[in-house]
Amino acid sequence: MATDFYEMLGVSRTATQDELKKAYRKMAVKYHPDKNPDDKEAEDKFKEVSEAYEVLNDSSKRSIYDQVGHDAYVRRGRGGASGGGGHTDPFDLFSQVFGGGGGGGSGSIFEEFFGGGRRQSRNGPQAGSDLRYDLQIQFEDAVYGADKQIELKKAEHCDKCKGEGAEPGTSKRSCPQCGGAGQVTMTQGFFSVRQPCQQCNGAGEIMDKPCSKCRGDGRVNKQKTIEIHIPAGVDTGARLRVSGEGEPGARGGPSGDLYVVLHVGEHEFFQREGNDIILDLPLDFPTAALGGTVKVPTIAGTAQLKIKTGTQNGTIFRLRGKGVPSIRGHGRGDQHVRIAVEIPTNLNKEQRKRLKAFGDSLDDSAHPRLGAFTEKVKKIFA
Ligand SMILES: [Zn+2]
Ligand SMILES: [Zn+2]
Repeated sequence: MATDFYEMLGVSRTATQDELKKAYRKMAVKYHPDKNPDDKEAEDKFKEVSEAYEVLNDSSKRSIYDQVGHDAYVRRGRGGASGGGGHTDPFDLFSQVFGGGGGGGSGSIFEEFFGGGRRQSRNGPQAGSDLRYDLQIQFEDAVYGADKQIELKKAEHCDKCKGEGAEPGTSKRSCPQCGGAGQVTMTQGFFSVRQPCQQCNGAGEIMDKPCSKCRGDGRVNKQKTIEIHIPAGVDTGARLRVSGEGEPGARGGPSGDLYVVLHVGEHEFFQREGNDIILDLPLDFPTAALGGTVKVPTIAGTAQLKIKTGTQNGTIFRLRGKGVPSIRGHGRGDQHVRIAVEIPTNLNKEQRKRLKAFGDSLDDSAHPRLGAFTEKVKKIFA
């Protein structure tokens, strides 16, 4: 029994949208109740893969899922925090993904199953591809959140022809070769193969004069500035979806989405572990021995840290709630302060003399670990 949405779909954790969709289609067809009548197990599987796909296909749900893990995600009421309400009915999702009409009709399944190639008719609307943009952000931006502008060169609808492809003022007409279908059927022996029409390149239409700006493609490459909001608490690998900023669709199809994948830079002295922050704090030897209060930088300003008497090197103190805010909107991690005692150097003659005298004045109880170790060594090597 798979215990993870990626496993349920049989994909790797780095699966792309395309891979997810492919995997979901395969599984959903396999377990669809229409194909497995009265099979409770298949029905459960069908629901499982639907949920897995629904979560992983939504970049914000997926990034939460990746961060909190399967069990926590499911316990938390399956992503309720993203504000989007409950999850989609598996049959609705199925028909959305397969583009079929009614939920119950098995036509779309079998077409998908036996049709081989793309179901989408060549001259119908085509959705634009999704785009990926890798964005390096500063440590602080990931912690506090930030608004950023990214600049990218991407295809947009041509403004001269409004994406139509025909020079303004000229007309388009139905392709005489394929009668506007965009496809022609070729018969070879037993087989009949549908192929994109060569005269119109599958568009179904012929232009009298292609647009001079986009050469009839309807799309041009443009430099574009896109504003994105980075929520507080993100970490490397988080993916932000900017809806509709992918490649434009063709023939009236919807645009794809832009996925911004975040890479968080390192901080000079803070290290991040999930929502916790780790700080290595150099501490002078007298304060470590005597105890005291020291000022410690945190991501939320300076904090006072009480050092107890006889603090050893490597001791970790916790500053509760001084870590990174949770991306889920409530709670924060902690800051862990790891003590790095600095042994004094560059002592002058007088200081060395006094330290020597001080050392000589100590009895074994000042160094209990050293004493215990020496005893053990003696026993073993006696
Ligand atoms: Zn144009
Ligand atoms: Zn044609």
